[in-house]
Amino acid sequence: MLKNILSRLTKNAEEKPKTNPVTALYQYQINAEECRSCDRCRKVCKVGAISGERGQAAYVIDEEKCIKCGTCVKWCKYKAIQRLDINKDRPLTD
Ligand code: SF4
Ligand code: SF4
Repeated sequence: MLKNILSRLTKNAEEKPKTNPVTALYQYQINAEECRSCDRCRKVCKVGAISGERGQAAYVIDEEKCIKCGTCVKWCKYKAIQRLDINKDRPLTD
């Protein structure tokens, strides 16, 4: 009995979607026009979602790796990182 319950709970946990319904509504993006390639954001991103080389082209956020913590936004003194509403241009109904 207990074994069955545990088995069911484990199965449910595995099937639970990993996407947070709130954070799924937005994403972080670096504005290439504003980015000065200073490297600050890359250093503070704990999951290594930001790539780029200091003094080179604008930095980029890997959406697959980004956990949407917002830390990079606070550290970018040039305000080059924005939180975008990914549903903004979508119609409310199909
Ligand atoms: S902190 Fe801002 S300006 Fe510096 S590399 Fe990151 S996005 Fe570009
Ligand atoms: S929001 Fe967080 S996880 Fe995403 S790129 Fe910025 S610091 Fe990294």
